[in-house]
Amino acid sequence: MTQLSPRLKQATPVVVDHGEGVYLFDTAGRRFLDFTAGIGVTSTGHCHPRVVEAAQAQVAKLIHGQYTTVMHQPLLALTERLGEVLPAGIDTLFFANSGSEAVEASIRLARMATGRPNIIVFSGGFHGRTVAAASLTTSGTKVRAGFAPLMAGVSVAPFPHAYHYGWDEDTATKFALRELDFLLATQSAPDDTAAFLVEPVLGEGGYVPASTAFLAGLRERADRYGIQLILDEVQTGFGRTGRFWGHDHFDSRADILVMAKGIASGFPLSAIAAPAALMEKAWPGSQGGTYGGNAVACAAAVATLDVIQSEGLVENSAVQGQRLVAGLRATAADHKEIGDVRGLGLMLACEFTTADGSPDTATATRVHAAAAANGLLLLTCGPFGNVVRMIPPLIVTPAQIDEALALWTTSL
Ligand code: PLP
Repeated sequence: MTQLSPRLKQATPVVVDHGEGVYLFDTAGRRFLDFTAGIGVTSTGHCHPRVVEAAQAQVAKLIHGQYTTVMHQPLLALTERLGEVLPAGIDTLFFANSGSEAVEASIRLARMATGRPNIIVFSGGFHGRTVAAASLTTSGTKVRAGFAPLMAGVSVAPFPHAYHYGWDEDTATKFALRELDFLLATQSAPDDTAAFLVEPVLGEGGYVPASTAFLAGLRERADRYGIQLILDEVQTGFGRTGRFWGHDHFDSRADILVMAKGIASGFPLSAIAAPAALMEKAWPGSQGGTYGGNAVACAAAVATLDVIQSEGLVENSAVQGQRLVAGLRATAADHKEIGDVRGLGLMLACEFTTADGSPDTATATRVHAAAAANGLLLLTCGPFGNVVRMIPPLIVTPAQIDEALALWTTSL
């Protein structure tokens, strides 16, 4: 008899029958408030009628048309629509299927464009699990262990994780930039460095927002040395943080923007975007795969953008995020085991710590399980697994935020 890998069985205790909006229903008919959104993917809610309709219509017309042989209308339509939300000057797109693939495409482009080998990443960053993406990932040892040798040419500089260091944001930022300069002077000379790869908010690494001064420091060094600044917006894009792009909070500018997750409401799709002059440096045949930019996924992505714009989901993310974070902070005041509440928009987390400030993974694990038992699905993250995060669909209502807060308090 065939069976699931133990890793999959362990990871999926709830067997879902269907999803509707912010709720999932298991095969026994039990309802769960889904504050995971498939790890930040189903921003328009489960099975939004407009996304379903667009995908169903596309399935009946054309499911797959490989873009090196034929072009199809959904991919062209999506390219045009993304122009409405891309930062100025970032006007050329390339499509793939997953976040990891898009990250790989971005570093390949940076290497081809600069002719330099090295990539500098920032501690706690998560960029995926393919071998190259895992080589760029430092959010936890599990992602990297066991399949060395990893890709060469990767150096790690500190991310300004103020809470972790026990410093204020300014001190953490200055430290991170000083260490970056030291790294550029000792390990990865600017002339050998193709790119900085960074998340505007550390995702799997524990939901830690960068600072404006940190991203400005990266931008300034990127400009000074001809290094490409790659912003990995796989988790932070499409309104998740209460602005369309996570880096909008920090007044930053990417050379290459990486996106996935919220782009297509759950259909596998990812993309990189860059100025045309940069994207031209990738020669034909150097990027891409059989399924990238799938027609049904692109049609779903166009409908997703329609929903995000017409239903004001970026604004809702900001407003409901305020309500959720206020509720989490109020609860944390009575629970000393919650050492920090942080995040942006509807990308929020509570870090569990012991009295001496050490990671309290046991309590985070218990609360996560208790919440699921109470009907609230959450996720953990962070290098120690002691951070519990909430990333509901962006359609979430005030009543559902309050429902989640009540279940959260009961689960503590
Ligand atoms: N980059 C970031 C910031 C992510 O959060 C993730 C996934 O969580 C990835 C890349 C990898 O994406 P995928 O799992 O689709 O390969």
